[in-house]
Amino acid sequence: MMPASSATLHVVATPIGNLGDLSPRAQEVLRTVAAICAEDTRHTGQLLSQFGIATPLLALHDHNEEAIAGRLVARLLAGESLALVSDAGTPLVSDPGFRLVRAARAAGVRVSPVPGACAAIAALSVAGLPSDRFVFEGFLPAKAAARRERLQRLAGETGTLVFYESSHRIADSLADMVQAFGAARPAVVARELTKLFETVLDGDLEALLAAVQADGNQRKGEFVVMVQGAGDDEDAKVAEGRRLYARLNEHLPPSTAAKLAADLSGAPRKALYGG
Ligand code: SAM
Repeated sequence: MMPASSATLHVVATPIGNLGDLSPRAQEVLRTVAAICAEDTRHTGQLLSQFGIATPLLALHDHNEEAIAGRLVARLLAGESLALVSDAGTPLVSDPGFRLVRAARAAGVRVSPVPGACAAIAALSVAGLPSDRFVFEGFLPAKAAARRERLQRLAGETGTLVFYESSHRIADSLADMVQAFGAARPAVVARELTKLFETVLDGDLEALLAAVQADGNQRKGEFVVMVQGAGDDEDAKVAEGRRLYARLNEHLPPSTAAKLAADLSGAPRKALYGG
């Protein structure tokens, strides 16, 4: 589809701690657009002043985004290029911007990324957990009951789970994860990435909970919590097959019980006799 105007909405990632992570292209785009839509104009103003960028700022946050998206799209259609940033990292990733991007795309405006820091991706890149498949869960619900229910629903997920967490809930969330996923599940807590007190702790969930409870410093700052996925499908099939075999074996000859358990679970028959 031909763009409806020559203007572009640039979605620009900003640093998650280290100012050196604002790319030269991001600086160039932020310097040359007509205006920058920012979650917190004061916060972004401070960032821009470090780079000598004086582009006008407009507030765009969860509370006004729906209301002003139309006006911003009108400016884009009139030929003014705009940038969208959030307080830190990549806009739209647990941050505002989705409604504006959707409205711009619906109006046929070109929307183009200027990629850069994202806490989830930075954390995965240093965690040493399988990351060929991962599930980004963002922030867990603040209320304990809803948080526990969400975690229960994720217990069988086989991809690595990625959560954002804040200092005042990190210990409670890890405790709930121990309950939902089991004490032995491997996990990594990445804290204050790219900042002075960056720490990346790995271990099983129980050990990580103990480490965070034991040291108040490990509860300060910003966190990404990553939890290895549940065992792969083959493990789950064998577990189910063994469970069935044990039950059927109480009533049937072993060879019949094994054949039925293998058929029902999909596990290989010879895997059912062990353990
Ligand atoms: N859009 C951002 C991104 O691309 O990562 C995320 C915004 S979200 C409102 C903020 C959360 O991201 C924090 O509560 C924390 O979970 C995570 N986060 C941001 N910066 C971080 C950092 N330097 N180290 C660890 N986690 C960070």
